[in-house]
Amino acid sequence: MSDLEQQYAQEAFDSNWVAPLGPNVDAFEHEFCDRVGAKHALALSSGTAAIHLALILAGVERDDEVLVSTLTFSASVNPVIYQGARPVLIDSERASWNLDPALVVEIIERKIRQGKLPKAIIPVHLYGQSADLDPILGICQRYGIPVIEDAAEALGATYKGRIPGTLGWAGIFSFNGNKIITTSGGGMLVSEDADFVAHARKLATQARDPAPHYQHSEIGYNYRLSNVLAGIGRGQLRVLDERVTTKRRIFDYYRQALGDLSGIRFMPEAPWGRSTRWLTVITVDPEQFGATREDIRLALETENIESRPVWKPMHLQPVFADCEVIGGAVSERLFRDGLCLPSGSSLTENDLERIVDVIKACAR
Ligand SMILES: *Cc1c(COP(=O)(O)O)cnc(C)c1O
Repeated sequence: MSDLEQQYAQEAFDSNWVAPLGPNVDAFEHEFCDRVGAKHALALSSGTAAIHLALILAGVERDDEVLVSTLTFSASVNPVIYQGARPVLIDSERASWNLDPALVVEIIERKIRQGKLPKAIIPVHLYGQSADLDPILGICQRYGIPVIEDAAEALGATYKGRIPGTLGWAGIFSFNGNKIITTSGGGMLVSEDADFVAHARKLATQARDPAPHYQHSEIGYNYRLSNVLAGIGRGQLRVLDERVTTKRRIFDYYRQALGDLSGIRFMPEAPWGRSTRWLTVITVDPEQFGATREDIRLALETENIESRPVWKPMHLQPVFADCEVIGGAVSERLFRDGLCLPSGSSLTENDLERIVDVIKACAR
């Protein structure tokens, strides 16, 4: 937290707006739109809720197919299941570890030949870096497939000078505690489409029809962000650029300290944009390095330092075992060899030195 969050949250207390709606929510939505260059934004209780609403309004229903990155957090896929639809899990490419556009084009054309147009696609922008969106947007526009960008991990990133999360039909962001800025829990849905966001707003507020009494003509959800938490979000938004700078500085430290070690590589920064380096992620070649990524993780754990393997691909998850998967070798390798290093913006130089020393000691 910076100094501003408490001030905005205090305003909610002082004005007694301790409700799921209020001036902080409106201001947070406006300020968020200004920051990312979106037309309309809807503050929600989570990024997962934002994906769910986008799928509902894309008309995703039982047995529809939705294309999703396989290398992601389960929250990208779960809402597809909430709708009774079928995720089609697609592998990554190597330049950014994100959705492989060539595979996307191939699978969409195959699905169309088979007479089954995918109902939506969810490209994920992983670990602070944009996917290669243009080819994906191109084919989806051609066939009218709504693109729902999962930018939960990529607030602050760029793609060819534009902002990932604002380039598809819908974009979602997360303010969960582990994200680059946080409201403790929260999310945002953005779009250029005013009617879509207005309808999402209604669904997120228990789908109340405009009437003096309580009247409902569709099923609603309780998905709004509270006015107190939106106050925290307003303060956090003001330090976003600072956070990106800090994250990139942490990455540079690791790269300077570890970059020369044989068998250690860093998540590449693709030429199409700037990554926030939300997390610093390495891959470990055990032959060259002399230890596996799991050896490193355990050595860090012994020193009470938490690190995590790269996301386990969704097609390897027991709960999604029955889903169709397209490719998979790239994400499987990244899961096997990839390790997310401690990347919190409050890490001190001293902390980083300790971490680096443990990793170096694992080398042959
Ligand atoms: C965190 C995250 C989400 C979900 O966000 P919540 O606000 O925690 O619901 C979705 N997708 C990805 C890729 C995430 O990392």
